[in-house]
Amino acid sequence: MAVVRKSPLYSVRRSKVHGLGVFAKRKIRKGTRVIEYLGERVSHKVADDRYELKDAGDGHTFLFIVDRGVVIDAGEGGNEARFINHGCDPNCESVIEDRRVFIEAIRTVQPGEELKYDYQIGRDDDDPENVDEVFACRCGAGTCRGTMLWPAKRPKKRARVAKTTKARAKR
Ligand SMILES: [Zn+2]
Repeated sequence: MAVVRKSPLYSVRRSKVHGLGVFAKRKIRKGTRVIEYLGERVSHKVADDRYELKDAGDGHTFLFIVDRGVVIDAGEGGNEARFINHGCDPNCESVIEDRRVFIEAIRTVQPGEELKYDYQIGRDDDDPENVDEVFACRCGAGTCRGTMLWPAKRPKKRARVAKTTKARAKR
C-alpha cells in the first residue's frame, strides 16, 4: 500500500476574532473528524478551583464539559483544539463519543477559513453581572447572537443565592 503523505489539515495562527485561531490548510469535507479535544480530565470541582479566580474579565476558557463528572482542561496537555474559536454560524461542531470530545466539520471548509464551533457556554444563577460582556461574541456572522453563552438571553433570576462562582466551560 502506498503511503500518501498529506500536509496538515489545519494550522494555528492569529485570528481576527480572538487571540489565536485554527485555520483550514486544505479543503475539509463536511463530516470530517478534524481533531480531538485533548487535555487533562478533571472533576468539575478541580476545574472550578483552578479557574474561578481567572474568570473576571477573561472570556477565554480552555475547559470543556464532557458530562456531569468530567471536564477536559486543555490548559494542561491540550492540543490545537483549544485554540478553535467560538462562532455563532460555525463550520464545525463538538461531538462527544465515549466520553471523548471531537471537533467535526458540519459543512465543507475551504482552505484559509477559520474553524469555529458554538461553545454554548452555560449560564448559571451565580453568573457575575458582567458575564455577557466577558463572553461577548464578535464573530462577525450575520446571525451573531452577541454572546458565547447559551441561552443568548439571561433568564429571570431565580430567588435563591448560589454558593460558589463556577469556572466557565464550553459544552
Ligand atoms: Zn457571534
